[in-house]
Amino acid sequence: MSEPRVSARQRAEVIRRACGCCEYCRAQEKFAPDPFSVEHIVPVVKGGISALTNLAYSCQGCNGRKYVSLEALDPGTGDVVLLYHPRQHSWTDHFAWHEDCTLVIGLTPIGRATVEKLQLNRSGLVNLRRVLYAFGEHPPVC
Ligand SMILES: [Zn+2]
Repeated sequence: MSEPRVSARQRAEVIRRACGCCEYCRAQEKFAPDPFSVEHIVPVVKGGISALTNLAYSCQGCNGRKYVSLEALDPGTGDVVLLYHPRQHSWTDHFAWHEDCTLVIGLTPIGRATVEKLQLNRSGLVNLRRVLYAFGEHPPVC
C-alpha cells in the first residue's frame, strides 16, 4: 500500500520544479484566483505513489478535469491515448502556443487528447492569458 500523503519537502520541490505554474495549462499560480494542488499523475486509487516522479503541480481547473484519468480520446483520430505525463513527456513536444499565445495547441495525439480532456483553453484561462500577454507576463518563461 502506497503512502498517499505528500510531504512538505515534496510539495516545496514540486512547486520549485514547476516554477509555480500548472504543468498542464501553464497558468501561473501568482495570477490565479485559487491555490494550486500537488497532484498524483497516476492517482493513488490506481496505484500511484507519492514520489516526485509521480507528482505534478496543477491548477484546480486542470486537476478537477483530469481527476483519476490516465487516458482520453484523441479528437483527431478518435483513438484512446495516454494523457500528458509531466514527468515522462516534454510540454513543448506535445503542445505549442497559438501565435497570439492565448490558446494551447495539441501537437500530438497525447497533446490533443490532453487539451480536450483538461479543457486547456477554458474561457477564463484564455482571457487571463490575453491580459497577461499584454503586460508581458505570459507565456511564463520557466
Ligand atoms: Zn492548469
